[in-house]
Amino acid sequence: MTPRQRSPADDIVGRANRDGARLVREWFAELTQAAESDAQAAYVFVMGSLNEILKCFDLPVVFPEINSLQTAVRQVAPELLNEAEDYGYSPDICGYVKADVGVQLRGGEHPMGRIPKPSLAVLTNACNTYIKWAEIWQRMYGIPVCTIDIPGTRAAGTQTWPGHPDFENDRYVVEQLRELIATCERVTGRKFDIDRLREVLGHANAMSRGWCQVLELNRQRPAVFNALTDGTIYLGVANGLRGTPAGREYFADLVEEMTYKSERRIGTLSEERFRLIFVGVPCYPIFRRFNEFFTEWGGVFVHSTYLWFASGGSNLGYQYDLDNPLASLAEGLLISVRDAMDSMFHQQQAILSLIDPYAVNGVVYHPIKSCRTVSTGLADGRKFLMASRDIPTLFIESDMMDKRVVSEAQLKNRIDAFFEGLSARSDLLSIGEPRD
Ligand code: SF4
Repeated sequence: MTPRQRSPADDIVGRANRDGARLVREWFAELTQAAESDAQAAYVFVMGSLNEILKCFDLPVVFPEINSLQTAVRQVAPELLNEAEDYGYSPDICGYVKADVGVQLRGGEHPMGRIPKPSLAVLTNACNTYIKWAEIWQRMYGIPVCTIDIPGTRAAGTQTWPGHPDFENDRYVVEQLRELIATCERVTGRKFDIDRLREVLGHANAMSRGWCQVLELNRQRPAVFNALTDGTIYLGVANGLRGTPAGREYFADLVEEMTYKSERRIGTLSEERFRLIFVGVPCYPIFRRFNEFFTEWGGVFVHSTYLWFASGGSNLGYQYDLDNPLASLAEGLLISVRDAMDSMFHQQQAILSLIDPYAVNGVVYHPIKSCRTVSTGLADGRKFLMASRDIPTLFIESDMMDKRVVSEAQLKNRIDAFFEGLSARSDLLSIGEPRD
């Protein structure tokens, strides 16, 4: 039999998922190499990683949040959670922390390789758990910890911008970046190079532009990617490879793939019936199955708050000024971490503004036991949304790490009932094409 000719669609459609998985594997291979040669590494978090500065010192970056979610997807989290709880950590604290403690107690052993020990940790106050989590590494390894204080908004919808007196008062963030640079110089024994920072920021700019274009392209019906599943792969690259040529190339390819799909109306499902927004953190212990509960009904997640707060600030498309790199990095950090905090605490206004442009039929809230930072307030956010707009919502609880509190049968029942209700709402099904 003659082999079928490959079409451009074979090469382009699905490329971002294949390349994303490969890049993440390569990243973990580098971490394994660093662990095996006892090389230095920096531990960071997704909200304000400052990968831009760490890259200037060629420090491999470890995102313990990403390590932990990988242990849940790969089904080793239950053992790690038990080990951390036996060690003394409470069952009700953030599961990411406990899985990481388990990995540290095992000398860095991880299902994707080996995690190097930290030489320093960098964090912001975007989540209060970050602060206590870094203290664990400080106690275990005696490393320096750089905590960057980012002043949040004072109330929902009060983000300020350059020129506003409140924003100008908050520019003190830049001094903390100078302290971070001094710490990196001390830890690595290398001098900071501002031209290297310019280069890294240039790559980060291209990635942020790409991320915004990709989010925008999902207004298309049918949706060109699933925010819950595909989106998580893109987030891995957005964080781990931020400011690198490989990250830049990945996002250029991703835009090309999504544009290709959009122009040809190639969706993620053979029949898209319901367009949904996901609010919260995914259910990693049953990641694929959880998504299938929705796709089996023709439901696709066209957007999510996760794509904002876990994207390392890329969602706003902030462009660093390469003539003024450090001040601009501080400004971008202030804007993006603030936005990340708002997308966890005050996401209701933003969700409301997405309903028409993305032709949304329903909003799914997924509060989780492990993460109070994201979950507290979701019930109030939902109440606000329902009072503002006639849009069906679903409120389902489980966890992003702990299988003991994930009831598949109960989730499925609630999700099925939600879709039965949606199917009966012919008015909603006729929402039609996305519009401004
Ligand atoms: S509490 Fe939530 S936001 Fe904070 S580290 Fe844990 S999962 Fe992340």
